[in-house]
Formats: sequence, structure tokens, C-alpha cells
Amino acid sequence: MSNTAVIRTSGLHYHYSSKEASILVDINLQVERGSVYGFLGPNGSGKTTTLSLLLGLLKKQKGSIEIFGQELQANRIDILKRIGSLVESPSLYNHLTARENLQVYRSIYGAPKKRVEEVLQLVGLANTGTKKYGNFSLGMKQRLAIALALLPRPELLILDEPTNGLDPNGIVELRELIYRLNKEENITMLISSHLLSEVEKMVSHVGIIFQGRMLFQGSLKELHHVQKQQSLITIHTSDNGAAMKVLQDYEPERNLDELSVSCNSLQDIALINRLLVENGIDVYLLQPWKKSLEQLFMDFTTTDL
Ligand code: ATP
Repeated sequence: MSNTAVIRTSGLHYHYSSKEASILVDINLQVERGSVYGFLGPNGSGKTTTLSLLLGLLKKQKGSIEIFGQELQANRIDILKRIGSLVESPSLYNHLTARENLQVYRSIYGAPKKRVEEVLQLVGLANTGTKKYGNFSLGMKQRLAIALALLPRPELLILDEPTNGLDPNGIVELRELIYRLNKEENITMLISSHLLSEVEKMVSHVGIIFQGRMLFQGSLKELHHVQKQQSLITIHTSDNGAAMKVLQDYEPERNLDELSVSCNSLQDIALINRLLVENGIDVYLLQPWKKSLEQLFMDFTTTDL
């Protein structure tokens, strides 16, 4: 196991009521220092419950949680000082400006006065002047909430569904902000989302949770590798019925005029072609294609467990 993990949970289980089944089952989360970790899963899969456990908002029942290499429960105050989070919407005042809202919170966090200007710059709200929070767009509100979480200079930022409700422009701005915070401010990020497509361009690592269980955890590169292995070939021949039999070891599927089989390499394509031709079947089309990452994510999260 790597010793650069900022978050490491082991065998984490959780249930809201002892009468009900576990909401989380054996969650082994590992978030490396310097990464942007996308914690993905459909609604109700257990993301917020996991994040609440990490922030000590829910009490751990079984398993272990280590953050910055320290056990959470025993070192809660010290650990939480180093984390910024946005799990529920913060209470910001509609009749105050961005700057005034931050000034209200600054003293609570014990941050110096100049930190307000720094975080406003960081999130791109330094020029909002006298505009009141109540008149902000959702994207601006989201960025002010992040500015608030940044006041105490966190090393780790945990954001629950930050893209929710944002328009495409808001998502691009958020992506740029996350990139800057990670690369320039060296903040490790844990971001939950129910849509891989919305966070795919922001994250370096991915954890996929479904019905309280982790189905995948690794770098985006490793996810791409799984995607590559999920390549398919579409085949159209002079006799698709006979081709089904010839290719039965590949477990082909038949849809309308075409067959599809999964394929792991270019050699597979050549072999399939040869098998068909040697059995007197003319090949009209042999077309490899890759599943999109979103399709792969859907496959992960629609499988019956
Ligand atoms: P969402 O994005 O919809 O919040 P999520 O992945 O964050 O989804 P959780 O909010 O962690 O999922 O919910 C996981 C499961 O726990 C769901 O079945 C939910 O109904 C249940 N749950 C959440 N909060 C409570 C609670 N306070 N009491 C009982 N059950 C709860």
C-alpha cells in the first residue's frame, strides 16, 4: 500500500438503522496526495454517506478511516482543520456581497484579513463588487461556497456533487478552478458525482460505487485500460447464422443484420476474419469500436449484484 495516501479507509461498513441492510459494504477508499479523485455512482449509491463519515459528520460503525496518516476519530479536530468541504450548501447571506459573506466567516476560521482577497481571486469572484449573493448565478454561488471552504488553506478539499445544476459554462469554470486549486495550490481533491461525463476531464483517479460497494478504483489511465479491453467488433457477413456458429467461442450477439463480439487485440480481428473465410462465409464488414467511458460506467452501475 502506498504511504502517500491522504485518505485511506479499510473495510468501512455503515447502516442508518440496525434493522436495515448496510448502506456501505467494505469500502476501501484510497485517495493519493496530489490527486483529483472522482467518487462516482448513481444517486443513492452511498457517496454522501461515505463523505459524511470522512468528515466525522456520521460516526463510524465498522472498519477504519485514516486521513493524513492518522486515525480519524482519535485526531478529529486536528484532521478537520486541514480539510475544506462542501457537502451541504453553506448558509450564505443573500443581502451581502461575496466579500462581505467571506468576512463574516473569516474570523470563525481564524483566517487573516488578506485571505478573503486571496480566495476571491482564486475562485474568480474578485470583481463582483457590490453584487449581492442573492443575485449570483448558481455557478457563482458554487464558487463562493468553494471560496469559503478555502479560507483555512485546506490541504484536502471534499466536494459533494459540485457540478449539480451547473450549465455547461459553469462546469467548464468549475473544471478550471479545480485544476488551478490542485496544480497551483497543491490541494488534493475528492469530488463526488453521479455523472462520469461531467467530471471525466477534471479527475486523475476514479472510484466507482454502486449499491454501497466499490466496483472500481484506480487511475483514469487504468479505467481507460479497462475500456480498451471492452472493445467490440461489429461483423456483417453473407450468412450471419452460420457465422454465429463458427464464432461461438467468442459468444457473439446478434442484432438485426449484424453480429457483435468482444475483442481484446488486433490479432483477434484477423483470427475472426480467417475463421469466417475458411468456413466459406464472405465478410462484408469487420468494424472494431470502443465503448465510451460513459457506457462503461453504465455497465458498472447497472449490473445486478
Ligand atoms: P445522492 O446523490 O442521491 O445523495 P448518494 O450516492 O450520495 O446519493 P447517499 O445519500 O449516501 O447516496 O444514500 C445512500 C443510501 O442511504 C440511500 O439508499 C439513502 O436513501 C440512504 N440514506 C441516506 N441518508 C439516510 C438517513 N439519514 N437515514 C436513512 N437512510 C438514509
